[in-house]
Amino acid sequence: MSFKIIKFGGSSIEDAEKIQRVAGIIEDTIKNSELAIVVSAFSGVTDTIKTLAEYAAAGKNIDVAFDSLVAKHTECAEKLSIKNEINIRRILDEYFTQLKSDLLFVAKESHLSSQSLDKVLSYGELLSTKILAEYLCQIGIPAEQLDARKVILTDNYFGHAFVHYQQSYSRIRSYFKDRSYMQVITGFLGSTKTGATTTLGRSGSDYTAAIFGAALNAKIIEIWTDVSGILSADPKIINEAEVIPSLTYEEAMELAHAGAKVIFPPTMIPALYKNIPIVIKNTFEPDHPGTTIAKDRTKTDKNVAGISSLSHVALVRLQGAGMVGMKGLIGRTFSSLANENINIILVSQAFSEHSICFGIKPEWITKAVKTLETEFSFELKNHYIDEITVEKNLSMVAVVGEEMRHTSGVSGRVFSTLGNNNINVIAIAQGSSERNISFIVDDEDVDQTLKSLHTEFFTIKDEWIEIFLVGVGTIGGELLNIINQESPPGISIRAVCSSRKMLIGSDALNPATAKDKLKKSNMSFGLNDFLSLGNKKNSKQKILVDCTASETIAKEYVNIINRGFSVVTANKIANTLDQNYYHSIRHTAKKNNVKFRYETNVGAGLPIINTLRGLITTGDKILSIEGVLSGTLSYLFSAFDGQNPFSFILNEARTKGFTEPDPREDLSGMDVARKMLILARETGAKLELDDISVESLIPTELDPTLSVDRFLDRMVDFDQFFIEKLENANAKQKVLRYIGKWDGQKVKVCLEAVSNDNPFYNQNGRENFIVFRSKRYNDVPLIIKGHGAGAAVTAAGVLRDIQLCLEDR
Ligand code: ADP
Ligand code: ASP
Ligand code: MG
Repeated sequence: MSFKIIKFGGSSIEDAEKIQRVAGIIEDTIKNSELAIVVSAFSGVTDTIKTLAEYAAAGKNIDVAFDSLVAKHTECAEKLSIKNEINIRRILDEYFTQLKSDLLFVAKESHLSSQSLDKVLSYGELLSTKILAEYLCQIGIPAEQLDARKVILTDNYFGHAFVHYQQSYSRIRSYFKDRSYMQVITGFLGSTKTGATTTLGRSGSDYTAAIFGAALNAKIIEIWTDVSGILSADPKIINEAEVIPSLTYEEAMELAHAGAKVIFPPTMIPALYKNIPIVIKNTFEPDHPGTTIAKDRTKTDKNVAGISSLSHVALVRLQGAGMVGMKGLIGRTFSSLANENINIILVSQAFSEHSICFGIKPEWITKAVKTLETEFSFELKNHYIDEITVEKNLSMVAVVGEEMRHTSGVSGRVFSTLGNNNINVIAIAQGSSERNISFIVDDEDVDQTLKSLHTEFFTIKDEWIEIFLVGVGTIGGELLNIINQESPPGISIRAVCSSRKMLIGSDALNPATAKDKLKKSNMSFGLNDFLSLGNKKNSKQKILVDCTASETIAKEYVNIINRGFSVVTANKIANTLDQNYYHSIRHTAKKNNVKFRYETNVGAGLPIINTLRGLITTGDKILSIEGVLSGTLSYLFSAFDGQNPFSFILNEARTKGFTEPDPREDLSGMDVARKMLILARETGAKLELDDISVESLIPTELDPTLSVDRFLDRMVDFDQFFIEKLENANAKQKVLRYIGKWDGQKVKVCLEAVSNDNPFYNQNGRENFIVFRSKRYNDVPLIIKGHGAGAAVTAAGVLRDIQLCLEDR
């Protein structure tokens, strides 16, 4: 039988339920392999103990946090109902007594040395391995804890100890010689030759697994965690990150070094040395094949294997004209830092030699600057070196892949993508291996950096949609916000315009800044120029998204579509121009094999038009459509209960932004008439806007040329008219609703008094409410209701239409 090491991280063992799941995986695996298990501390425990120690050193009270740490472990042991309860309780209690006394020692010293920290941290792994080993025995798998400090020998660099491989290997081999029980090994821990506890670095349990794997010539080292492998980017930042099926040791090391937390970078060293494959598996999806890390991997068509990022990096820079040609400068810089055990993450030197900079974690800043000031005191005093500067709050990003070595232009693509997204690159370092391009950006830019690079290298280009957005007002602006927040895959903004200006990117525009940049743009808007861009890259689908209410643009749809664009529109005008034009848009779209979508023309984001279409295409016959379709009029008539005059409610609604800037547009009923016309036309009716009977609520006595304010003042004269309507309705237990109706013949929109047997009686607030009666939905009609106005739902509806264009392809 082959021999395997399997390691479970904290994410896999934080409570009784997860331990049972882990035990299940172990039970399955021992059917085919011999095993040793490596385990981390329960999730979060290493951090908790670290905080406890820091509190103790600072003289703060630790009782509450300590008690909850105890409870977490004892409750877990109880829940697993380990038979050997007395024994396990005794051992756990012993660990807690020792931990308490170590913490008291730290408190007494008022200082936390890295040696003391390593000592206290070790209890995390001691506790978890003990509990797992006892539980395995309980379910019939003879197992025992192995405290790795007995076998892993390290130097005394506490917190990041260096492992003496050969001595550790031989100790491990002799320890395993006479063991018949399955070993449950503490990850993360080692000890010096004098027996002091050391740790191998945060996340170091992965490394422990590789050390045991190499010592025992395992066939495979499995790292079980909470994701299905190494992903193309951090899944917490990139939703659509994908599992990378296979990587070389070097690629995995580069990705891990630059922040892919899923595996600790040194893990690859012993495995590479002994050529043992490492497989990353998901405890919560055990059948997923995961990622295999080995010496070679099959080539793929992707130039980039993955992208990683590491935040909170500081950049130290030495600069000065006097540095040019100065011999030994680099050597002295790095040896002095190495002597102080300062870990350098990245190095970048400009060709001019007049500056050199390197990245470190912020905890090293003070020590690094001090070290360099001492080392270069002469050069500083004599101004060969002008200054040593430190920039903080930066992130390192690495783009990694073996294929980059044989493909030219990858770094060009990386940096032009960043340029197009207005991301400022602060320093660049390309590894000599050419399988890694690393650079530094502001912490603030790191999410956008990963998103844009991930889209550039991982989204299949033929499936991309380029958006040409017309109108960046309330709806267009909100659409940019949603695209920025959600980064919907495959969608990029190519150009934006307002009625006066336009902004065109050489590639994708950054949705976060497009609106502001448009304001500053000095290109005046011309539809022809705006669209001619779209001809450059024919492989992608181009969509003109109309978020205006402009008739001029609406009248251009046929021309726009003829140029190969799909059109997604929130603008109702085109669909309510004459029948010939209405027909021509559809005919042209079909001829050009592009889409014309307008779900938000009625009821904002509510799925009204697609539902209606679905009924018709499946052979249903629409008998009637009735709806309360104006958010503004709904609001006015639900707020108008007789307490306040109608003119007052109208004024108030305008102030709250619930009406159009000129409320007459709402009161005229034309908005509802247009919506009803669109719905009626959807059923096949040949109607014009003029055919609709519309009851306008604007008193005919009022001069249409009045200013808005004058108009609102004059509305007071008509309060009596509205209150009479309301009182008449109320006298018959009815309420007023502004309703649109299509009965299969004609469309009518009017103010009606409805009683409580009418579906609209209970309609309230700014809700849209629509009732379809059809052959299939006759006695019980199909009703759609919900918030039918507002930028957020409308913009989401527009985005959905865009996505449907992508799905339709
Ligand atoms: P464990 O407790 O099992 O050791 P870790 O938290 O150390 O688990 O590592 C797994 C986590 O690493 C994932 O949940 C994920 O959030 C994070 N991660 C960051 N970058 C990547 C990446 N490129 N691929 C996979 N996971 C990543
Ligand atoms: N428990 C340790 C940590 O949290 C080691 C590990 O999880 O791998 O860093
Ligand atoms: Mg880990």
